[in-house]
Order: sequence, then structure tokens, then C-alpha cells
Amino acid sequence: MSRDFDIIVIGAGIAGASVAAHLASTHRTAICEMEARPGYHTTSRSAAVYEANYGPPPILSLTRAARHYFEEGGYLTPRETIFLMPDNQETAFEKMMSIQKGMEEISIATAQEKFPLLRDGYARRAVLDPGGADIDVDLLHQSYLRLFRQRGGEIHCDRPVSGLEKTGNWTVRAADEVFTCRIIVDAAGAWGDAVAQMTGRKPIGLQPKRRSMAVVPSPPGAQITSWPMVGDVGETWYCKPQSGKLLISPADVTPVEPHDAYADEMTLAEGISRFEQAAAYEVTRVERSWGGLRSFVPDGNPVVGYDRQQDGFFWLIGQGGYGIQSAPALSRLAAALVRGEAAPADIIDEGLRLEDISPLRFS
Ligand SMILES: Cc1cc2nc3c(=O)[nH]c(=O)nc-3n(C[C@H](O)[C@H](O)[C@H](O)COP(=O)(O)OP(=O)(O)OC[C@H]3O[C@@H](n4cnc5c(N)ncnc54)[C@H](O)[C@@H]3O)c2cc1C
Repeated sequence: MSRDFDIIVIGAGIAGASVAAHLASTHRTAICEMEARPGYHTTSRSAAVYEANYGPPPILSLTRAARHYFEEGGYLTPRETIFLMPDNQETAFEKMMSIQKGMEEISIATAQEKFPLLRDGYARRAVLDPGGADIDVDLLHQSYLRLFRQRGGEIHCDRPVSGLEKTGNWTVRAADEVFTCRIIVDAAGAWGDAVAQMTGRKPIGLQPKRRSMAVVPSPPGAQITSWPMVGDVGETWYCKPQSGKLLISPADVTPVEPHDAYADEMTLAEGISRFEQAAAYEVTRVERSWGGLRSFVPDGNPVVGYDRQQDGFFWLIGQGGYGIQSAPALSRLAAALVRGEAAPADIIDEGLRLEDISPLRFS
């Protein structure tokens, strides 16, 4: 095990693992992860959805640019998405329609054919994305970690970084170890601002928001495997099949401090009640539940790049609820920017504007 590297990536979630896999092909790179295993926090708690019409504009560009990688690697299983418009969600519906690609408005009868639980009268309009998919998140994450190791990268788990000092190179204190490096990549998820503050930086305003998930039995006799993912366009609930069960989320966005998140029982009950208003299915039992932290800065875009201090501190945070579907493109982009190279042309061709994700927008 070395102690001196070109680059240390803090965090072994999907963001850290994917960017480190790219960087290890050109630089001596290590990952420091505070938990005993990579992916313990947000990365292993997602809904595993690829939906290229979901998220703010930079995320849409990144998600579309990621599609090829997902398909080549066999990480996607097709699953249509249906967004429903109940009363009072006209604005959200129009907004989605104004930026969508490849979606088609469908009749409520067609929506009911595809999602037989949909109650008459719940939605006034419905729109279908035939290009949605489930992502094999574990396979994706493990593949990046394997590539990282094959390229000579070192992963140090149980190493919570607690001190970052710049004296020529960076000195990184992690548990009882001290490492040195030229470049730090902050991929610490919900702890992204806490890590940046160790360097004396002001917090950028990263806010972790809890989202809860429940697994419930599928309706008796229903063949749910090919059902679409369904939710309201105003994002107050969604559901999708998962391993023969139904996954329901109240789509909560509760601001919290960074922590080991868990589902909030009351929030889950309220979300299931909203689901039941849309779906003719009474949920009598929750088999499993969990919570995770989706972390956002105020404009909702990710934060990717070096800031004005020019001291080798690189931000890779704020992926919100889209960090899996964007990771293949975001990691390629971030690795290019870490190296001081131009952004990959295919990502820019998808409409990404670097200024929209740069940390310089906060200074
Ligand atoms: C319920 C839920 C559903 C979601 N659904 C989807 C979805 O369907 N599709 C999608 O694309 N995205 C989804 N997301 C969002 C996605 O999961 C996240 O954007 C993504 O996982 C963030 O990855 P990350 O690597 O930045 O964070 P994390 O996975 O949290 O990784 C950060 C790592 O940094 C480590 N760390 C923190 N501080 C330190 C320190 N001081 N020293 C060392 N290590 C440190 C942590 O231990 C952690 O392992 C969902 C999120 C939630 C919560």
C-alpha cells in the first residue's frame, strides 16, 4: 500500500468509483471511504431508474450521453415510464412536455392497459416514455471498482477523512493513516460540504434531502413484471415493480443533516395513501423499507470542477436524485476536467453547458 498519490478521491459511492476508474488509467489514484464497504450510503439505496426525461437540464444531457455506455455494458432492462397529471399539476406537466425527448402523450385508457391499477378519474392526462429502464446499480458500481483496481487504483475502506491540509501537496488524514496527493476529488455525497470545509472553504449550500422507499407485496394474481414505472408529474409518489414486489416511494424531499438515513414511517404512510388514491390497491403490509439522502445545491444542478482557489481541490457533488443514471457521462466529464482536458464532445453535443455545473457559479 502506498501513501503518496497523484489523486485521492474521497467517497466510494457511484460518483467516486466511476471517476476514479477513469483517473486510474493516467494517474496514481486512491479512494478513501469512511465505511467498511463502498456504496453503503446513497448509491445502494436508489430506485435504480434510468429516465432521460427526469431532472434539470444538465442532468438530462448527462443522462442521454450515458445511454450508450449503459447499453454496451448490459446494465439496463427496459421499463417504460408513465407520468400522470392529476388536477393541479398542469404547470409541471407543461414544463416536462417542453423539455422532453422521445415521449408521447397517451390516453388514460392506454395508461390503464399498461398499469391496470390506475383508478378512473385520478389523472386527466398521461405521458409515456418508452425509453425508460431499470439500472443494475450493483453491477455498474462493482464494474467501476473492478476497473479501478485493474488499473492499479487502491481503495482504502474504514478511512473517514478528517483533515485536509495544503502544504505544497495535500496531506490527507484518514483514521490513523496519513496520505499525500496533488489533487483531491470531493465525491463524498451528502458529506460533500463537510469535506470541503476541511480545506477552509465556505460551504457551497449542499442540502441532503431524505427520500423513503417501501417494498409491498404485489396485488394477488397480478403479473406485474412488465408494468411501467408510474408516478404523478408533480412528484408526490411513484411506484415500480421490483423482483416480483411493488416498490412505492412517497417521493419525500425532507431536508436533513448528513447521516445514515432510514425511512420515516409517517412519511411512508402518507405516500402510500397518495398511491392508493391513484391505484386501486389497498396496501396492508410493508415488507421492507429504507431511506437515502439525495443531495442538492440550491439550483438543483451538480457541482463539478475546480473552483477559483486553484489548489487542486475538485468538486463532484450535488447529483441529487440522478447520480446513477448520469454517472457514466458525469465521470468521463469529471475525469477530463480533473486532467485539464476539454469536455468530451458527445456530452457537449447533448446540450450540457459547463457553466451550469461549475463551482464558479457560486463565487
Ligand atoms: C431513495 C433514492 C432513490 C434514488 N433513485 C435514483 C434513481 O432511480 N436513479 C438515479 O440515477 N439516482 C437515484 N438516486 C440518487 C443516487 O442514488 C445518488 O445521486 C447517487 O447514489 C450519489 O452517489 P454519490 O457517490 O455521490 O454518493 P454516496 O453513494 O453517498 O457516496 C458518497 C460516499 O462518500 C463517503 N464519505 C463521506 N464522507 C467521507 C469522509 N469524510 N471520508 C471518507 N468517505 C466519506 C460515504 O461513506 C459514501 O460512501 C436515488 C437516491 C435515493 C436516496
